[in-house]
Amino acid sequence: MKYCYDCGTKLINKELEHEGIVPFCPNCNKYVFPIFSAAVSMIVTDKNQENILLIKQYGTDFYRFVAGYINKGESAEEAVYREIYEEVGLKPIKIAPMKTAYFEKSNTLMYNYLAICDDTSVVSNYEIDEYAWIPMNQAMDALKNAKLALEFFKYYKDNIRK
Ligand SMILES: [Zn+2]
Repeated sequence: MKYCYDCGTKLINKELEHEGIVPFCPNCNKYVFPIFSAAVSMIVTDKNQENILLIKQYGTDFYRFVAGYINKGESAEEAVYREIYEEVGLKPIKIAPMKTAYFEKSNTLMYNYLAICDDTSVVSNYEIDEYAWIPMNQAMDALKNAKLALEFFKYYKDNIRK
């Protein structure tokens, strides 16, 4: 971050109380912090983590995780529950943070969560084209065209799931 987002002026380093040295635009007379979006993606499983819920969306033909952007003013956890409900109508009994990764194409920091559901009957699919409960041992193959989801799933498989 070398130039001001608003006016393009070269940034200088300036001390900000309680923060230390922060880039500062002398033209706009303001401190400039990094700007990026934040989103959540979810490894939605059934109660015993035997099956994983994958969806197809936006007319594309590959499986992906339920996911969505975090709204301004919302916590990541709130976004997890909201997106799962909006996309598939489920209410997880438990969620847990997994791994994060930066996705350059959309300038987004993605927070992956595990979301365990007791009731697995999908009741709404307004925002998706189709869904499938996939056995865990087939998930890697099902996700082969979703690079970031595959990375998250590998982390879950190698570090979390017993
Ligand atoms: Zn400026």
